[in-house]
Amino acid sequence: MHQGTKAVEERLDRFFRDKLEPAIYRDHVELSITAWQAPREPVQFDVATSQQYEAVDLGWRFGRAWSTIWLKVSGSIPESWSANDERSLAAEIVIDFGYNTSRSGFQAEALAYDLAGKPIKAIAPKNSWLPWSYANKKVEFYLEVAANPDVAGEYTFEPTTLGDWDTASEQPLYELKKLHIARRDIEVWELVQDIFTLRGLMVSLPQDSTRRHVVTRAIEDMLDAIDPSDVSGTASAARKKLTAALSAPASASSHRVIATGHAHIDSAWLWPIRETVRKCARTFSNVLSLMDDHDDFIFSASSAQHYKWIKDHYPSVFEGIKKRVASGQWKPVGGMWVECDGNMPGSEAMVRQFVYGQKFFQENFAMHAREAWLPDSFGYSGSLPQIVTQSGISSFLSQKMSWNQVNRMPHHTFWWEGIDGTRVFSHFPSADTYISELSGEELAHAEKNFSEKGRSSISLVPFGWGDGGGGPTREMIAAAHRTGDLEGSPKVSMGTADEFFAQARSEYANAPVWRGEMYLELHRGVLTSQHRTKQGNRRNEGLLREAELWASYATLKTGAAYPSGQLEEIWQSILLMQFHDILPGTAIAWVYKEVENRHAEITRELLEIINASLTALANDPTANTAPQALTANSMSISHDGVAGLGVGVPSKLAQATSVVEQNEFVILENEELRVRVDRSGRIVSLFSLKTNREAIAPGIAANELHLHNDNPTRWDAWDIDEHYRNSKQVLDSVEEFNVRKEADGTAVIETKRVLHSASQQASTIVQTIRLEPGAKSIDIGFEIDWHENEKLLKLAFPIDIHAEEVAAETQFGFVKRPTHENTSWDFARFESCQHKYLFLNEKDWGVAFANDSTYGFDVQRTTEANGATVTSVRFSLLRSPKFPDPEADQGRHTLKFKIRPAATIEDAVSLGYELNYPARRVQGNRPVEPLVSSSAEQVVVETVKLAEDGSGDLIVRLYESTGGRADSRIAFAGVAEKIWLTDFLELPTSAEQVSGGSIDLQFRPFQVITLRISGLQIV
Ligand SMILES: [Zn+2]
Repeated sequence: MHQGTKAVEERLDRFFRDKLEPAIYRDHVELSITAWQAPREPVQFDVATSQQYEAVDLGWRFGRAWSTIWLKVSGSIPESWSANDERSLAAEIVIDFGYNTSRSGFQAEALAYDLAGKPIKAIAPKNSWLPWSYANKKVEFYLEVAANPDVAGEYTFEPTTLGDWDTASEQPLYELKKLHIARRDIEVWELVQDIFTLRGLMVSLPQDSTRRHVVTRAIEDMLDAIDPSDVSGTASAARKKLTAALSAPASASSHRVIATGHAHIDSAWLWPIRETVRKCARTFSNVLSLMDDHDDFIFSASSAQHYKWIKDHYPSVFEGIKKRVASGQWKPVGGMWVECDGNMPGSEAMVRQFVYGQKFFQENFAMHAREAWLPDSFGYSGSLPQIVTQSGISSFLSQKMSWNQVNRMPHHTFWWEGIDGTRVFSHFPSADTYISELSGEELAHAEKNFSEKGRSSISLVPFGWGDGGGGPTREMIAAAHRTGDLEGSPKVSMGTADEFFAQARSEYANAPVWRGEMYLELHRGVLTSQHRTKQGNRRNEGLLREAELWASYATLKTGAAYPSGQLEEIWQSILLMQFHDILPGTAIAWVYKEVENRHAEITRELLEIINASLTALANDPTANTAPQALTANSMSISHDGVAGLGVGVPSKLAQATSVVEQNEFVILENEELRVRVDRSGRIVSLFSLKTNREAIAPGIAANELHLHNDNPTRWDAWDIDEHYRNSKQVLDSVEEFNVRKEADGTAVIETKRVLHSASQQASTIVQTIRLEPGAKSIDIGFEIDWHENEKLLKLAFPIDIHAEEVAAETQFGFVKRPTHENTSWDFARFESCQHKYLFLNEKDWGVAFANDSTYGFDVQRTTEANGATVTSVRFSLLRSPKFPDPEADQGRHTLKFKIRPAATIEDAVSLGYELNYPARRVQGNRPVEPLVSSSAEQVVVETVKLAEDGSGDLIVRLYESTGGRADSRIAFAGVAEKIWLTDFLELPTSAEQVSGGSIDLQFRPFQVITLRISGLQIV
C-alpha cells in the first residue's frame, strides 16, 4: 500500500481541530451580563445577589488575583429552537474566561446558581458549559467567579508574589471572552468521542500491528465520508465508518480496568484553605449533575473535612451527595479527615485522621470506608498497615511511589507489611495517575506498566480533573463506554474501589509482600520546609495528649465537664493542617500565615484546658492543707520522682553541675556526664562517666553547624537534591561565647553566630548547651533569626559508634535504616524522616537524640585512620526555598534537642517523651496517683481520653515501643466494671472482662492495644 499511516494521523489532527471541534456548537445567542465584585473574601449567595450589579460586555477584563466576581446572566431561548430538536441539539450555556484551555484547574473557576441559590454546575477549562432546558425559555442565573491566579504556571518554580492577597498584583487576570447559549450537536459530539478513543488506541498500538492499521483505515474512511462544509449533516455517515472498529471485541486475556470517578482536591496548596471549600462545592456540583445523566457513573471522594465543609456551607449539595451515597453511586473513600502527609503526623494524630474520618462517614452516611486512599502523599510510614487495619480498613491505595527518582517499586498489587507485621492488601494504579481522562494512551500505559501481568489481570484507574478542574466529565464517561470491550484496549468498567479490591484480592490472594516503610525517592525537603508549621504541629500534638489525659482524669475524679466538643474541633483543625501540602511546607504564603496563627490559637486553648484540669485534679477543696508546688508528669514513665501519668511532689535535685574554664575549652560536669566545648562552641567530648566511654569520635568535633547551598533542579519547597552535599560551609566562628550558671545549678554555654551577607539581612544563631544537675543528657537549644535564601542548615554529630543502622521513631515504633549506601535503595535515601527520637548503637552502648520539631535528618559513615567507624547524624534545622512561598522560613525560630550517651532504645523512647512532654508545674494540695500505669517500661501509654461516643468510658491506647515482646500489667487508679480490647474506632474486639483495678496484656513487637474501660470508680 502506498499511503502510510502517519499521513492519516496528521490529516485527522488537522481536520479534528479545524472542522470537527468547531462544529460541536451552533446557533449561538448572546446573553446580557451584569457584574458585582465582592470586596475581598467570598460572600454567601444571598449577600451577593442583593448587591448593585453593573452591565459588562464581552472583552471585559476582570479579576485581580483571589478576588470574587458575581455575574448575573439573562436572556432567552430563540422561538426557532423547537423542543422536538432537544434530543439532537442540546441547549447549553458556553463560557470562556480567557483561561488556558490546554489544561484543567489552577485558573479561574466558577459556580453557577439558579435564582433560588441552588448550585447548578461548575465552570472550569475543559468543562466550560452549563445544561439548559428548552422548557426554560427565560435564561437567568448567577455565576460566582473565583479569579484564582495560576501560581505555578509552567512549573518553572520562579518566586512569585501571587501566593497571598496582600502581595499579589491588582491587575485583572481574566477576560470575559464568551458567555452565550448555543446548541450542542449531539451526533457531532459523539463522533468527536469516537475519534478520541480510536485515535488514542491507534497511537498506542505497535506500529506493525494489524489492529493499528485496521483502525487507521477506518479513520481514513471516516474522514472521506464527512463533508467539511456540512459536518452536522454528514456526522452520522462518518460515524458508521467507525462502527466496525469500535465494536471489535477485546481479547480474552485483556487487562481489565476498573475506572472510578475521582477529583483529587488538595485541601490547600496553591490556594488558601478557604478556596478549597469552594473547589469542593464546584466539583461536587459537577459530579451530581453528571450523575443525573449517567446511572452507571461511580464517583469516589476522600476526606471527611471536604464533606463537612459542604455540609456546613452548601446544604443542598450535601443532600444530593447523601442520596447518591445511599444509592451506591457516590463512594466516600479513605476514611481519613484529610489525605494527610504519610510520614510526619504523630502516632495518635495518624490514628485520629481515621477516627474522625470514619466517625463522620458513619454519622452522615452510615458507612465506614474500607480502603485507605492516599494517592499523593510523599511516602508512607511503616506504621500505616497497623493503623489502617485497626481503623476498620482492609486495603491501601497510593500512586505516588511511581514518582521515585532512582528505584522502581516492584509491585502494583501486593501485601504491605508494617513494622509490627500487620499486612494490608495494597494497590498502585498502574496508569501512574490519579487524574486520568481515560485516553487510549493512559489505558495502554496502565496495561504495559502493570507489574503483576500473568498473575493478576486488573488495575484501578481514578479518572477526573483534580484541584479545581472539576472532576470527571461527560467526555471521560463516553471514553469509558467505548472501551468496555474494545480490541487492543484494556476492558474498562466503571466501579468502586471496593469492587476493585474484592476482585484483585480474590484473583491474587498470594500477592508478593513489601515490608516496612515506602520511602519516596523525591520531595525530601518536605521534612524541613516551613519549620514553624512543623513545630506548631508537634507542640499541639503534645498539648492535645496532655489535655485529654488531664481532662479525662479530672472528669473521672472530680466530675468536671469533659470538653469533648472543643477537643474534637481542635483535633479536626490539627488534622486539616497535616494535609499533604500543608505540613510538608509546600503551599503558598497565605496558607502558612493562617496555619501559624491557628497553631498559636490552639496552643492557648489547650493550655487553658490543661491548667483548668490540673487545678481541679490537684486541689481538694474540702481539705485544709496548703497548696504546694507539684509536678504533673504526663509521660508514661516516672520523672523527678513523680510517677508517670500522675501528679506528685518532685524529688530534690542532684548536686549542681560544675564548670571549669580553660583557655581553649570549657568543661561542664555532673555525676553522669563530662562535656568539653571549644571556644567556637563545638563539643569535642561527651563522656559518660558511669560507663567510662566517649561518644564523640576522637579528633572530630560535634555540634557543628553546616550551611549548604540548596538549589533543587525542580520543586523548590519539596526537594533537597543530592548535590546539596557538595557545597558545605562550616559555621565555625562565634561572635559571642558566654558561660553561666542558673539558679538550679544548671551550667550553660551560650554562643552567638552571625551570618553576614552583602545582599541580605544578617542571620543570627544563638545556641545554648546546657547540662542540668544529675542529667544523663545534654540539652541543645537554638534561637535563630533566619534570613538566608536557598540555604539548608544542618546540625552535625559525628559519633564514635560502629552502627549498621539508625533507628528513627515513627508512629508507634521505629524504622531502622542502613547507615551505608550499598544498594541504589540505600543511596536514594539520603534524607529521611524521624519523629521525636533517633537512636544509634553498637551491641550494648548507644546514643539517643531527641528533637522538638526537626523531622529531616541524614546519616553517613566514615572510617578514620585507626580503622574506627564514625557514624555521623545530621539534623536538618532550616531551609529557605523560594517557591511557592518566597518568604518560606524567614524570621524567628526556636529548636531544641537532647543528646544522651550510654543510652538504650528504652532510653531513646523516654528521651523523646521527656523533651516533647516536659513535666508541668501546678500548685495543689492533692497529689494524685497515676490514672493508668504499665508495669513494663517498654509498653508506653500513648493516649488517655474519654470515648468518642460520649458514654464516659475511658479509652487507653498503649504500644510496645522497642520492637520486643512484653507482658505488662495495666493498672488503673480505681476499680473498673468492665474492660474491652477495642480497635481504633473504639469498637470491641474482645469479650468484656470484669476487672478489679488492672488487666494483664501481652504485646507483640510494636503492637498497639486500645482498651475501653467502663464504670471506672477512682479511689
Ligand atoms: Zn495532592
